[in-house]
Amino acid sequence: MVINAPKGTKDILPEEVINWQYIENKAKEVFTKANFKEIRTPIFEDTNLFERGVGDTTDIVNKEMYTFIKSDRSLTLRPENTAGVVRAYLEHNLYRESAPVKLWYKGSMFRYERPQAGRQRQFHQIGVEMFGIQDASADAEVIMLASEFLKSLGLSDLVVEINSLGCSTCRKSYKEKLKQAIAPFLEGLCEDCKSRYEKNPLRILDCKNETCNKLFEQYNLKESVSGIELCEECSSHYNNLKRYLEKLNIKYKENTFLVRGLDYYTKTVFEIKSNNLGSQNAVCGGGRYDGLVETLGGPHTPAVGWAMGVERLNSLIPKIEDRKIDYFVVSDNIAEAIKYTAKLREKGYSAEFDYNGRKFSKQFEKAAKVANKAIIIGEDELKNNYITVKDLLTSKQEKKTIEDL
Ligand code: ATP
Ligand code: MG
Repeated sequence: MVINAPKGTKDILPEEVINWQYIENKAKEVFTKANFKEIRTPIFEDTNLFERGVGDTTDIVNKEMYTFIKSDRSLTLRPENTAGVVRAYLEHNLYRESAPVKLWYKGSMFRYERPQAGRQRQFHQIGVEMFGIQDASADAEVIMLASEFLKSLGLSDLVVEINSLGCSTCRKSYKEKLKQAIAPFLEGLCEDCKSRYEKNPLRILDCKNETCNKLFEQYNLKESVSGIELCEECSSHYNNLKRYLEKLNIKYKENTFLVRGLDYYTKTVFEIKSNNLGSQNAVCGGGRYDGLVETLGGPHTPAVGWAMGVERLNSLIPKIEDRKIDYFVVSDNIAEAIKYTAKLREKGYSAEFDYNGRKFSKQFEKAAKVANKAIIIGEDELKNNYITVKDLLTSKQEKKTIEDL
């Protein structure tokens, strides 16, 4: 019996990898221009890191982690990368460098979720993190970076939704208000929401359960609680961000009910959504996490970042056709074909030859499929020390020497 890839994982086949390489190259190009440096951290970490960093009231930590024990140590495949980047930032004392420290990453993440379109168990993220800047200019910088990156991929019609969750003081009275408004229909909500009610009522607003969402509507939840009332500092931070985004001509939509799935966010949160993604419509999610570095044992460090889902991103861009190689060497003499192929590669061209030395018609068939031009090394060519270059599109032939190329 054939063994298939585990549920919720996907092979990325050669014809699809072209799109992935394109996306990754654009990311590197755009981030490098803004002086963000790439960081690569392990794909598994101490389970504690996520329990403390992501938060033990989140779905990710409660239900979605791939955790395993090795030599009495509990390890977890990373469900997201901010915690790992902060861990590395602290472990290598990067906070001693002058602020800001600006990092980006790409890689696989693992969450035990119900697989569906746009939702996998192993998926990929590209993300950025910026440490050490309290001003909303850092929030604007990372949102600008997301927007530039999407634009470089030809996606300019996506909606940036922003909100401010304020600080713990701003949230305190809001949580009470929310709980009061929810109390009358709490019994009808899903089990997750019931437990969120005590532990983290804000996150009820992020529930994707249909029954819950119907009850929210029926009881006019959103109208009755409105958004978080911000303290002076949080409100001025939020206003500054909006001012910067306007200067940058980045269109945004305020969504006072935007809360995010992770516990560590403070002040700014944002998501970038597309209308072409069905119900998994968020390509990018991020925000400010001024408390996380301290929570993980470091000095107080303001920080802001985001992560994009590469599968969802890829589904928004057209399929890129594989490029043909420069030359296919057509010859009935395998030794000469190998030699010329090597010479072409040395000169910087992409080149291939027929490993079986089949008859010319077969070789030309193959050449037309994979290459722009053929180089013919026949008997006459060998005897008189020249090559014939055939343009496979126009069929034009020219006599040349290899040095001419
Ligand atoms: P969602 O609300 O869609 O579950 P999230 O809030 O869990 O997203 P984040 O943890 O902020 O998402 O991750 C950022 C981005 O990573 C998401 O916007 C999405 O594009 C992508 N992403 C998250 N989970 C998955 C998954 N299971 N499969 C594919 N992509 C994902
Ligand atoms: Mg999620």
